[in-house]
Amino acid sequence: MKLIRFGEFNKEKTGVELASGKKIDTSAFGEDYTEQFFETDGLARLEKWVAENEATAPVVGDDVRLGCPIARPSKIICIGLNYLNHAKESGMEVPKEPVVFFKATSSIIGPNDDVIIPKGSVKTDWEVELAVVIGKKASYVSEEDALDYVAGYALHNDVSEREFQIERSGQWVKGKSCDTFAPLGPYMVTKDEVKDPNNLNLWLKVNGHEHQNGNTNDFIFNVQHVVSYLSQFMSLLPGDVISTGTPEGVGFGYDPQVYLKDGDVMELGIEGLGTSKQNVKKYQG
Ligand code: ZN
Repeated sequence: MKLIRFGEFNKEKTGVELASGKKIDTSAFGEDYTEQFFETDGLARLEKWVAENEATAPVVGDDVRLGCPIARPSKIICIGLNYLNHAKESGMEVPKEPVVFFKATSSIIGPNDDVIIPKGSVKTDWEVELAVVIGKKASYVSEEDALDYVAGYALHNDVSEREFQIERSGQWVKGKSCDTFAPLGPYMVTKDEVKDPNNLNLWLKVNGHEHQNGNTNDFIFNVQHVVSYLSQFMSLLPGDVISTGTPEGVGFGYDPQVYLKDGDVMELGIEGLGTSKQNVKKYQG
């Protein structure tokens, strides 16, 4: 199943994209895609509802704005330097354990919303990533059991401000959390439809020029390892998002470095998880 949310920002309604590509409104199902939804086996209930109502549910037009496919999660946890070549291009050591940082949930936007270059920023950068959505509370889970705790997967652009992240001292969170820095979607694909999350092509273009083209089989720490690892330090709650790192080809890795500017267009995608497109605009006000 492919979960979508659509409509006005922060007032999104729920929907599902069917195998045919038709998008239907599931508002009448009566639940948003929240922690509570995932915790209480909502995916199974939704699947049953869709089977019974897909013929009569209202259709969502292709011109309707898509939002983040899940309701605001309790946290977004990101893994840094999780592809060998990206660690090298960043001039950083290949990590012995996953590099973990947070991204504020207030940075979440829809897949095709505008990305705003923050006030005073000159080093805003792109990062295509596989996002994992947690399906049930995970605490001290083993690698063997880790995928039992996953609800599904989504496309994420871990937009990053490199000066805030690296030059302004302290933790990376400052360069990762600006408003609009987390375009998620177009949909969340349930895990039964993703054969192997550790073998998916992913790519990103800016103004039609391809900068990133990798595969999650280059992960230093795969999805099972990351879920298990994080659960040793914190409880992962249903609906939480783990962003698994980006392959090489970010603007920071070029010599000279290349950063986003007003008017740029980012397009990205992951095999089986759809594509997204963001217009880049400068901060106003
Ligand atoms: Zn990242």
